[in-house]
Amino acid sequence: MATGTVSSNKYIVGPVERFDQKNDMFKRTRWDSNLREMARQLWGEAMPSEKEGFTRTDIALLNAGYFVERNFAHGNYIHDTLLYSWSTEPTARFCRIAEEAAPVVNEPGEMSRKVKKAARFLGADLVNIGLLDSRWIYSHSFHFVTREHEKLEIPEECRYAVVIAIEMDYATIKVSPTCISRAVAGLAYSQMAFVAASLAQFIRDLGYTAIPSGNDTGLNIPIAIDAGMGELSRNGLLITPEFGPRVRIAKVLTDLPLEPDPPLEFGVAQFCERCVKCATHCPAQCIQYGERADKPVNISTSPGVLKWPIDAEKCLGFWARNGTSCCNCIGVCPFNKPSGRLHDLARWFVRHTPWLDPWLIKGDDLLGYEKPMKPRDYWARP
Ligand code: SF4
Ligand code: SF4
Repeated sequence: MATGTVSSNKYIVGPVERFDQKNDMFKRTRWDSNLREMARQLWGEAMPSEKEGFTRTDIALLNAGYFVERNFAHGNYIHDTLLYSWSTEPTARFCRIAEEAAPVVNEPGEMSRKVKKAARFLGADLVNIGLLDSRWIYSHSFHFVTREHEKLEIPEECRYAVVIAIEMDYATIKVSPTCISRAVAGLAYSQMAFVAASLAQFIRDLGYTAIPSGNDTGLNIPIAIDAGMGELSRNGLLITPEFGPRVRIAKVLTDLPLEPDPPLEFGVAQFCERCVKCATHCPAQCIQYGERADKPVNISTSPGVLKWPIDAEKCLGFWARNGTSCCNCIGVCPFNKPSGRLHDLARWFVRHTPWLDPWLIKGDDLLGYEKPMKPRDYWARP
């Protein structure tokens, strides 16, 4: 697997060790005794309240969004299970292909076009291809429910990552931090499980190995950067040119020979150096204001990578106290906006005239884009 040619190398300033999934903030709530109270608040029963955004209707929407992920995928629990199964069996195909049929062989560019076409057909909003860097595969997996902690390896020949992004609805993100905005994350988890599993089946039926993966198996953001899907930002998320940070990411790892997409730079790092909207609007104050650094904040940060490290303990601590998750850092980001003449023009300026960034940030402030939406206004919209 590649390590020398990938575009995430521009962020690497020191030795990078494979991340142990056990240290993911969510998984830590299952074993870290210091986080016992946080875990109780996060994973206990929810009592609907009168408070807007936390009513029974809002919680029902949240559960509806997560329905497929929680019942048929479990990508937030562990790899190689249900829709994210690594094997072809048990698989009910509509049309079973004869065992002796030869694999499809096209030149990588042509094959990549077909794989991308299939991914979009199946529901991906964005799809890119990258060489898989083994440093981004978890060293160990950790089962969220059973707490099994095991060494993790993927087949050596799976050298490619087909990265899928699912757009999260702009208006729903704006109702953060409520059960309504959490529903849009849940829906994207459900949709990405469907797309990744279906795309993996497409690749298997071409005659190749395919491993569908949600938040399991490896770190999605550097894998997506290596696939030329976007850039790393101050809020710790992937910024895509099309949707900003308003995406959830899945991937299919495969041995099907494909043509990687080129690296992508469109001015995010310079813009984030001047913009601190996500940090200002973070209720936990866990996003850094200053320069990028490579020092880990705690064991949930990977060392050796130059970035604005998020204090995930403070972030999840706020989710626990708030009674649901938060998307403020997505909702206020100027890159977040849906496509349109004015927004596309602003994106063009970010890419081509970085000296105008301070004015674009001021314009964003003046137009009040960072304002959240009230739950009652959300439900009142058609
Ligand atoms: S999710 Fe909310 S609390 Fe966490 S970093 Fe983003 S804004 Fe801050
Ligand atoms: S809100 Fe501003 S600083 Fe934060 S990620 Fe978006 S552009 Fe970067």
